Amino acid sequence: MRLVLLGAPGSGKGTQAKLLASEFGLLHVAPGDIFRSEIRAGTELGRLVEGILARGELVDDETCIRVIDTRLVSEEAKQGFVLDGFPRTIGQAEALDRILSGRGESLDLAVALEVDEDAILRRALSRRVCSRCGKPYNLAMQPPKVAGKCDDCGGDLVTRKDDQESTVKERLAVYREFTEPLTSYYAEKGILESVSGEGEVNEVFLRIKESLRKRNLLE
Ligand code: AMP
Repeated sequence: MRLVLLGAPGSGKGTQAKLLASEFGLLHVAPGDIFRSEIRAGTELGRLVEGILARGELVDDETCIRVIDTRLVSEEAKQGFVLDGFPRTIGQAEALDRILSGRGESLDLAVALEVDEDAILRRALSRRVCSRCGKPYNLAMQPPKVAGKCDDCGGDLVTRKDDQESTVKERLAVYREFTEPLTSYYAEKGILESVSGEGEVNEVFLRIKESLRKRNLLE
């Protein structure tokens, strides 16, 4: 199964992508996670993108496409994948189509998670991530067992620089301008399913599975 998850920043894409990856044995590819881990490791790529992420702007298409291309040629991607946060522009969507068709493959489905903007702002402001391993938490919906500490590695939980209110607003504006048009792009190809991203994590996951079933992607 080859999936793309679309949705505004804070719509819950990352959480749902992880659930899909673990239930269906898919490779989870999230350029935002890759960039943050490169920043933590202080690599050349990390230094290149650090300011861009902090401002809530988009990393250039060429860099993103290169990062995705290397992941999609890996052996693990053969079982299928779920892309979370890519594509974010029409240029990236076209590049993805070219990469896949070069291998005789294509996307099965783009799932768009719909969440209203006020809810997104509230979610982003209560989001925390582990400063050591990057695991995400939400103080309202998925709090850690011990306040301020990661359940998995005990690292300190911090607010992502790009989850400050002004940056979230900038990221929403960037989303509306560059990423929202992708829903029409995939609708025209006949591979778009829109799903409400409101409510509990498991409810949303069930809705996504229902849309996969509708498209005959599940047994
Ligand atoms: P995310 O974790 O998906 O919210 O991504 C965090 C940040 O990484 C975004 O605000 C962008 O600065 C950058 N980023 C992630 N994916 C992309 C992409 N496909 N195109 C451009 N920038 C991206």
